[in-house]
Amino acid sequence: MLDKVVIANRGEIALRILRACKELGIKTVAVHSTVDRNLKHVLLADEAICIGKAPAAESYLDIPRIISAAEITDAAAIHPGYGFLAENADFAEQVEKSGFVFVGPTADVIRLMGDKVSAIKAMKKAGVPCVPGSDGPLDDDDERNIKLAKRIGYPIIIKAAGGGGGRGMRVVRQESELLSAIRMTQNEARAAFGNPVVYMEKFLENPRHVEVQVLADGQGNAVHLGERDCSMQRRHQKVVEEAPAPGITPEMRKFIGERCAKACIEIGYRGAGTFEFLYENGEFYFIEMNTRIQVEHPVTEMVTGIDLIKEQLRIAAGRQLSFNQEDVVIRGHAVECRINAEDPETFVPSPGQITRFHSPGGFGVRWDSHVYAEYKVPPNYDSMIGKLITYGENRDIAIARMRNALNELIIENIKTNIPLQKSIMADENFQHGGTNIHYLEKKLGLGGH
Ligand code: ADP
Repeated sequence: MLDKVVIANRGEIALRILRACKELGIKTVAVHSTVDRNLKHVLLADEAICIGKAPAAESYLDIPRIISAAEITDAAAIHPGYGFLAENADFAEQVEKSGFVFVGPTADVIRLMGDKVSAIKAMKKAGVPCVPGSDGPLDDDDERNIKLAKRIGYPIIIKAAGGGGGRGMRVVRQESELLSAIRMTQNEARAAFGNPVVYMEKFLENPRHVEVQVLADGQGNAVHLGERDCSMQRRHQKVVEEAPAPGITPEMRKFIGERCAKACIEIGYRGAGTFEFLYENGEFYFIEMNTRIQVEHPVTEMVTGIDLIKEQLRIAAGRQLSFNQEDVVIRGHAVECRINAEDPETFVPSPGQITRFHSPGGFGVRWDSHVYAEYKVPPNYDSMIGKLITYGENRDIAIARMRNALNELIIENIKTNIPLQKSIMADENFQHGGTNIHYLEKKLGLGGH
């Protein structure tokens, strides 16, 4: 097993990684910014190193400082968590060149999947269903682009190959808007991502977001761990996630899951990963792969009993997967509510000091969070301060437990989205299951696309 791991992240995921390391007997190094000295995992780690100032660019995104921390502490590996450098191929490359293990796939695979055009190409080749589209970058041949859009059928969406975070996309509903939309998206993509390449795909009007969790050891073995539904979103940000996805039958799960696992083997994938799909009228359409652990991984852990972070660490240590597809059994249902320090109506972040704090508990309740009474939420990072996860033998029980747990959760003196989460859990359509990606924005009166 790895002897010592640098946790190159903060907040709840850093604590989650620390807990997994401790269970496996791995020593931990917390690297943190000046405002993060009192993070729970920093206080619990075997060693802690301050790597810079509060702005992420001067700490959590500073590659040389993180690698230096690994050198100074004589660590074996670096776990990037999610966000920050987790999907930065240059970081993965430099980590490995410096003689450390990167807990994740190889830099080449991150690069392949980080470019949406090359990712779609690789997925099509592997038999993963994709959105009908241009199957490659658009060039400057206007006639060809007009024909292409006509063949795909309006509405279509123009997307940046290097896009991310829900940016670099434009929906086109009629031919008269096509050419200017292509140019505008190219210009935006050049400015925002330093890469003007765009492509075209069919715009699905009312899809759900359904994603498949995979684990691969990079030694020829890969399994899928079923799917999650993350359709409850605001501005492309997930708010509630659940596993399994309502209405997905075991046959559909097998169909899509097996294709994802096979694709992992074809691209030489190593570690935990997620294939994201839009799901409409019973069909899956691949949109992108996340080459890291995701925020919502706990719902999959709850229904499979598999600890994804420990599996990541085992794989990073060079071990083969210790189980096969038949060993993965989906049992019961899990729901996750992201708890954010933000105004529940305006969504403006609400950093500051928490005064009173009380976490919920009981059968089937899991609270993944770094906060505690007196903890001060800094203004410099993402506003998510915790994840409340509930499990039940069926979806109704998981939701009932979530409603109880949200009522028990007390976080005082900063605003949180707990009221929003309570209203979602009480929503009839959510309770019925299977709402699409525009549902929450419509409910909030923001309109969909
Ligand atoms: P990003 O990397 O920026 O998150 P994605 O490709 O994952 O980009 O797309 C983000 C979101 O944009 C999706 O979750 C979906 O809401 C919307 N979207 C992307 N492609 C399509 C499409 N072909 N049809 C409808 N909506 C889409």
